[in-house]
Amino acid sequence: MTHSKHVETKTIHAGKIKDAQFGALSTPIYQTSTFIFDNVQQGAARFMGEEEGFIYGRLGNPTVRELERRMAALELTEDAAAFGSGMGAVSATLLANLSQGDHIVASAALYGCTFALLNHKFPQFGIEVSFVDMTDEEAIRAAIKPNTKVIYFETPINPNLVIIDIAKITSIAKEHQLVSIVDNTFMSPALQTPAEFGIDLIIHSATKYLNGHGDVIAGITCGSKEQIENIKLTTLKDMGAVMSPNDAWLIIRGLKTLSVRVERHCSNAQKVAEFLETHPRIRCVNYPGLPSHQGFPLIGKQMQAGGGIMAFEIEGTFDDAVAFMNSLEMCSIAVSLGDAESLIQHPASMTHSPYEEEERASAGISETLVRLSVGLENIEDIICDLTQALEKMDKRIKQVS
Ligand SMILES: *Cc1c(COP(=O)(O)O)cnc(C)c1O
Repeated sequence: MTHSKHVETKTIHAGKIKDAQFGALSTPIYQTSTFIFDNVQQGAARFMGEEEGFIYGRLGNPTVRELERRMAALELTEDAAAFGSGMGAVSATLLANLSQGDHIVASAALYGCTFALLNHKFPQFGIEVSFVDMTDEEAIRAAIKPNTKVIYFETPINPNLVIIDIAKITSIAKEHQLVSIVDNTFMSPALQTPAEFGIDLIIHSATKYLNGHGDVIAGITCGSKEQIENIKLTTLKDMGAVMSPNDAWLIIRGLKTLSVRVERHCSNAQKVAEFLETHPRIRCVNYPGLPSHQGFPLIGKQMQAGGGIMAFEIEGTFDDAVAFMNSLEMCSIAVSLGDAESLIQHPASMTHSPYEEEERASAGISETLVRLSVGLENIEDIICDLTQALEKMDKRIKQVS
């Protein structure tokens, strides 16, 4: 039922757990660590999975459960699991599908902490990783080995905004019986539902667009009943990165406006990208909504619009990029994205500092690359702030030379 409704409707209603006692419109926050059993037999039946119901907060909570049900409906999957952070979701989802001696094929460019986990931590546990350019089918096929279990990527990629063709990746994954996992944080289900293209598991940093108000750290994984049950019974339960009921409530509230927020994020970002693309102090703009972008042909097919995030290179030096960012008056210098506020950050020195210099170069992250998450402010005010900061930078460049 819920799966056939439109996205705007589902963000508000899907998976609703009716408050049978009082009929509350807003989902109650079940701020409890544990749940009382009527008797020993009931407790035993719940532990055996013979009776539905809650046991203990780390194993499930009604407020969190409503969010999981809503996210599963939004991502067109059977079920979902909520986590205390996006990285909690990434690590638990990967580890539930991997053992010592297994191999992963992963995108060469990824969110910085995901890259650090794969590149630095997993090898210590005997999990091997090959990083490849996910736009290059031949390179992906060449990287697959007999012990490859998982293929992992993001689209658009953080921070260079390269678009990966999801259907191409899933067809390779199916040929080789790999579990395909995509991080859908940048698009959100308002713009992209990777399950339509055969992806097995979809991860979100719910910190970003899903919550949308910059006041929560959280993560979600969506997938089949079997996959989600496996994650919940192993790496979620035993590693314990659970979401708090308060945070679930905030995300449930944030989700109600996801579609309208994302629509404005996209239209604002489109105008900012068009403005920057013609500015003489901007070398290039990576925004999927520009016809010049590598991923533009997939708009309308894989994704509904270009999203709210772009990366651009300053025509100048590292110091010029710093001067530009420090001159902004309204846009905040901050990592994170998908909030009402426009947020700007410098990947080479911030989110992608876990990369070595050569790794950054091969992932397309230059010293003057700046990532902008376009907010919900009035578009004229955003462009005005960028304009005055670029003018200040331009003056500085002219003084130095
Ligand atoms: C922020 C982010 C993460 C990590 O999420 P947290 O909620 O910060 O743990 C993972 N992937 C992408 C693409 C992100 O932007």
